[in-house]
Amino acid sequence: MDIARTPSNPDGNIEMADAAMQPHDPPEIRREDYRPFAWLVPETRIDFELGLDCTRVRSRLTVVRNAKADKSPTIRLNGDGITATSVKVDGEPTSAFTMDGDDLLLTLPGDAHEIAIETEIDPASNSQLMGLYASNGMLCTQCESEGFRRLTFFPDRPDVLSTYTVRMSGPKAQFPILLCNGNRVATGEKGEDHWAEWHDPWPKPSYLFALVAGDLVANTDSFTTMNGREVELNVWVREGDLERTQHAMDSLKRSMKWDEEAFGREYDLDLFNIVAVSDFNMGAMENKGLNVFNTKYVLADPDTATDGDFDAVEGVIGHEYFHNWSGNRITCRDWFQLSLKEGFTVLRDQLFSQDMGSAPVKRIEDVRILRSAQFPEDSGPLAHPIRPDSYREISNFYTATVYNKGAEVIRMMRTMAGEERFREGTDLYFDRHDGEAATCEDFVKSIEDGAGLDLTQFRLWYSQAGTPKVTVDLSHEGDEAVLKLGQTVPETPGQPLKQPMPIPLKLALFDRATGRHSGEQLVVLDKASAEYRFKGFAEKPVLSINRGFSAPVTVERSIPRDELVFLAARDDDPFARYEAMQDLMVGHLVAAVGGTLSDDERKGGSEDIAEAMRAILTDAKLDDLMRGELMTMPSQTYIAEQMDVSDPGRIHAEREALKAELGSRLSAEMHALYDRAEKIPFSLEAEAKGARKVKTLVLAYAAASDPAKAAELAAYQYERADNMTDRQGALMVLTGLDGVERTNKLLDFYNRYRGNALVVDKWFALQASSLHPDVVDHVKALAEHPDFTLRNPNRVRSLYMAFAANPHGFHAADGEGYRMIGDLILALDPINAQTAARFVPPLGRWRRIEPGRAAMMREQLERIAEAPKLSRDTFEQVTRSLG
Ligand code: ZN
Repeated sequence: MDIARTPSNPDGNIEMADAAMQPHDPPEIRREDYRPFAWLVPETRIDFELGLDCTRVRSRLTVVRNAKADKSPTIRLNGDGITATSVKVDGEPTSAFTMDGDDLLLTLPGDAHEIAIETEIDPASNSQLMGLYASNGMLCTQCESEGFRRLTFFPDRPDVLSTYTVRMSGPKAQFPILLCNGNRVATGEKGEDHWAEWHDPWPKPSYLFALVAGDLVANTDSFTTMNGREVELNVWVREGDLERTQHAMDSLKRSMKWDEEAFGREYDLDLFNIVAVSDFNMGAMENKGLNVFNTKYVLADPDTATDGDFDAVEGVIGHEYFHNWSGNRITCRDWFQLSLKEGFTVLRDQLFSQDMGSAPVKRIEDVRILRSAQFPEDSGPLAHPIRPDSYREISNFYTATVYNKGAEVIRMMRTMAGEERFREGTDLYFDRHDGEAATCEDFVKSIEDGAGLDLTQFRLWYSQAGTPKVTVDLSHEGDEAVLKLGQTVPETPGQPLKQPMPIPLKLALFDRATGRHSGEQLVVLDKASAEYRFKGFAEKPVLSINRGFSAPVTVERSIPRDELVFLAARDDDPFARYEAMQDLMVGHLVAAVGGTLSDDERKGGSEDIAEAMRAILTDAKLDDLMRGELMTMPSQTYIAEQMDVSDPGRIHAEREALKAELGSRLSAEMHALYDRAEKIPFSLEAEAKGARKVKTLVLAYAAASDPAKAAELAAYQYERADNMTDRQGALMVLTGLDGVERTNKLLDFYNRYRGNALVVDKWFALQASSLHPDVVDHVKALAEHPDFTLRNPNRVRSLYMAFAANPHGFHAADGEGYRMIGDLILALDPINAQTAARFVPPLGRWRRIEPGRAAMMREQLERIAEAPKLSRDTFEQVTRSLG
């Protein structure tokens, strides 16, 4: 996303940005106010005369009255910062329209008409990256959610489905490649110009429209579908990037195959295009037949992309491809239903990645993301149900709650139904609603009918926000194990009282002596409390619960430390084993931070953790990918989540202290592990990926316990590295330390990769997320670096998102971190409101932070709220965060 086209006048696009600014108090849109649109738009024809600073858009819509809606003579065509240069109805120019804010209202006498509208737009000055914009000299669109209205006046809502025929023309030298949704049906040339006409046979909402024009080259391949249809596949990139597209292409083919096998879904056009753009607000976009991707999720080779990047490319390619059915063939009725497509598609991409690699490791990673991104949402001022009830700016609801918790909610249905019956449910859903704009209720009903589940009470997961707390108490009576479970759903903004929800919990009871259990069971806790009895236990068993993370809840139980040690060493459910290890560390750290540990307890606790870790380091049956998960310490955010109010400085200090202690106690085992892993040559196989993961983890522990030795080893790993994973891992560790190797290697890295924007992003991010004591000053200096720009979202995120997620920098005791993020939000808001608003939530956590820092965080939010012209995006996030 490099807006390489840096305008000479840095404020060159303020005019357009101003148009996007809203007066204070933008209206609240409510789910209960949904009404079907009064008109249908069976056909849309658009003609684009393309130019970087001026693109002319002529659209013709056939409109007919919607018999299923209330009759209205008026049709509302949404606009955003555009003016019509001509409006015609049935071929006749008319001035009989009115403007309502940015929208154009036309009164139509009959039941069927043709509306023709012309607009002119300036893509080069569009820094919001919504609508039509320029990126590196190419033109592309982003229409979800409400970007289409920045191109032309249109009923820009997802329940208006239309068939599009699009003609694009422009200078051939500047835009040799012209792409749109569907199939290319005609092309031609006229002087210096050329044109192409595209037709998409599938009716779609405007948010799925896309066009791309530019100087691009393709990696081309093909895929034969289950019914023998041959599909042409292209991954379009800029000339120099072609060598780094093979992994994306392979991932695409694997996705297509997997969706046929796992969900019975076949691709439905003869062509599938992916285009990589360097300026993009999000990860990627599922436009019908023409997916537009952030370069970050397309380009990968071993020299420039880490193992994590490779996995992310595969996951996002899958995600966008899977949207073709869950999102495009069946779309959302309104934006409150966003989780209908996003929650389901995230689940689909998670299952795909599980099948392509290590399923347990993928599951653990997904839980880690949920806990670090979604749990804080659920416990803070921005908490909302996966199907929200109201919004001011829908862009603010592309959240971990809608996406990741949405996926967990559907995963629970799958767990309760079992894989096969769940598949019957999804088959029914695809069958029943194909071609429609559907609701979350439609989805749940289809699963209910198809899988044969009663989901009456389960629907509460769609309407209640907040992460449920499950309390667990296991006792022993005679030969019975007695399990008492309770649940509470915490209060969230606007939802003081909650009802109990069905919570599917997978559990197993281990016999202490044999270390075995007699089978996993599923209990569904659907009341505030319940008791379960299990016969045949002469001794009290050890309980393993929420195995596989079967429900997105927090589990509260007082479990003896020796039972956690037992589970960490022998639980046969990999997630539960990971969880036991996390619980051991979290329990210890929370007590340490709270100051409730006696010296003896502190010593006993860290000894137990070290012993459990030693077992993990030396367990020959573990693969290194899984070992890496088990070695990973709980994140600072996750530890903070366990406390009502926390002191980030203390958490950081205790966490580093435990890391140092483990590093020194287990130094021998860790170095032995390193030496073994180091011998495994580079490949993208699981074994080699695992080896790289544990190597860098060993370096990170060493950095805490023996910085001098760690620096030496990291410098050595950096120099020997024949891949980005090893090199970045080593540099990450060095960046947190002081000394000459830090300076040398950071310089080397920059010089080596200065031409590669995605790797330069890593260079910024490593420094912004480092454990170095001077991180605040480093970030300030980097903001002045010639390669830094507020116009490229990837670059902004690489510096400032990394910083905002670095507790040690963001929560600097003097409040400087908060001030920097406050300044950033104010500076970025006029340029890119969507991206600016994403920096508000970290400041919004003030209620959960100790009073001194909380006051400084609030102060920044208040300063932003008082700014004279705020975007709707930032306004909404700031006011909700102040509460
Ligand atoms: Zn999606």
